[in-house]
Amino acid sequence: MAKVLVVADIKGGALKGSFAELVSTANDLGAEVAAVAVGAGVKALAADLATGTKTQYVADDASLEKLTAAALTAAVVDAATQFGADQVWFASTEAAKAAAPRIAAKLDAACVTDITDVQVDGSQVVILRPAVAGKVVEKVEVKADKVVAIVRAGAFDAKEGLVASENLVELSTPEADLRATIQEILTEAGGAVDLADAKIVVSCGRGAKNEEGVALLKGLAEDLNAGFGASRAMVDSGFMPHDSQVGQTGKVVAPSLYIACGISGAIQHLAGMNGSKVIVAINKDADAPIFDIADYGIVGDLFEIVPIMREEIKKVRS
Ligand SMILES: Cc1cc2nc3c(=O)[nH]c(=O)nc-3n(C[C@H](O)[C@H](O)[C@H](O)COP(=O)(O)OP(=O)(O)OC[C@H]3O[C@@H](n4cnc5c(N)ncnc54)[C@H](O)[C@@H]3O)c2cc1C
Repeated sequence: MAKVLVVADIKGGALKGSFAELVSTANDLGAEVAAVAVGAGVKALAADLATGTKTQYVADDASLEKLTAAALTAAVVDAATQFGADQVWFASTEAAKAAAPRIAAKLDAACVTDITDVQVDGSQVVILRPAVAGKVVEKVEVKADKVVAIVRAGAFDAKEGLVASENLVELSTPEADLRATIQEILTEAGGAVDLADAKIVVSCGRGAKNEEGVALLKGLAEDLNAGFGASRAMVDSGFMPHDSQVGQTGKVVAPSLYIACGISGAIQHLAGMNGSKVIVAINKDADAPIFDIADYGIVGDLFEIVPIMREEIKKVRS
């Protein structure tokens, strides 16, 4: 039986939705599943960590509040070694991308990133991941005994009814690594919905033109309690922050609903959102490539369409 260690992604003192998605899938594959949580105050999450896992490893110390890749690496390697994990699974975050290759090197494991699906073919686990900016799906057969894997947000579904068995193991606090320390964590503006976690994403392209267009689409995102993303064109022109960029060189999202507003559908943008379950595109050019992948297309001026949508949403809500 495979032994899968799922690394908890924690934000604002709570487990992010990706944890339940990874634990559910590991259980579906028939693995023995453990969790590891690293940070300040993470012991308080013991009950949540126990859902779907047999053992919960925690490294809990005030010094881990500003968690470095080195500290995360040390704690996860410690947990993986104690558990005898042959697979370590991360949700796709910047911290995961920084720590996963280090963990793989220390455990002498393969490292596979950007995973969108996992299939079992006989005794062989086959990993699927997009390649060439999402144009093809690559099948990866891992030959190494161990693998460290990073899974795309929204790739797996969380299931209800997982059995919880609390078995907390406290890890020793990783020693401070003075080669890199974190001085300050700059958080997003309060209230903003995290793009990676959002079930709905409204994205803003060059068709939004100016601040007025951005404000209109931000309003739509707020109405839907959605994450607010952007194409690179809007980031490069300074209308949207860098961390809102969706695409090959931005964030990869896979929400239930992606609403692309005034976005042409360049391959580099599609690479960041073509895993979305339902795609709605609003564009005044009927030949825009975004319509090739959209489930629902609205041909027209977003400055006319979005206010109508907002009115209709208001009516439904009330
Ligand atoms: C190496 C590399 C990496 C890249 N990485 C990324 C990335 O990560 N993410 C990304 O997004 N891009 C990326 N790009 C850029 C990408 O190639 C495109 O240039 C960019 O996605 C275009 O953004 P856009 O669709 O907003 O703008 P445009 O391509 O200019 O499209 C604007 C669209 O808005 C429509 N429109 C105009 N006015 C209206 C209106 N009033 N109402 C409705 N529709 C309207 C137009 O018909 C048009 O289709 C990358 C490029 C390179 C070379």
